[in-house]
Amino acid sequence: MTSSDTPVIYILDTAVFIKNASSWFHDKMCITTYSVYEELITMPAKMEFEKMQLQGMELYSPKQKYKEEIKKRYSYLKLSETDIELLAIALELKEKGKKIIMVTDDYSIQDVCKKENIPFMSVERGTITKSLEWKKICPSCKKEITQDICEVCGSKSIWISK
Ligand SMILES: [Zn+2]
Repeated sequence: MTSSDTPVIYILDTAVFIKNASSWFHDKMCITTYSVYEELITMPAKMEFEKMQLQGMELYSPKQKYKEEIKKRYSYLKLSETDIELLAIALELKEKGKKIIMVTDDYSIQDVCKKENIPFMSVERGTITKSLEWKKICPSCKKEITQDICEVCGSKSIWISK
């Protein structure tokens, strides 16, 4: 499989629904968590969320292991439970070898994304049309590889943006 064949999964934070940006994601693979819905206060935002759900947006509860990992690594940041869940989803999908983009306006989440090599887009700054180039790397050797499994150490490759 080449990098262009692998679909990107967009992880959607509250900003997407609050700022009425979800139409851009209608034909994309999207995932979020129920606690994002719980943070939505206005009716239009809730309706955006429900519409996206009908169109196939997946609701996912990340595994405890990944939430613990985020809490441990970033205890110095003020991350809400929702932030932690979204980042845990990102970690989990990345480890499964998925191509992901976090969509958020939250600076703490963006900070973690930078440190974890998770590509992100901001709704506010309108960079969601930016196309990313991807490469496969071995998370242990930190080298670009072409296979799914690293020949040197046997780790599963992950996608990162160049
Ligand atoms: Zn390796």
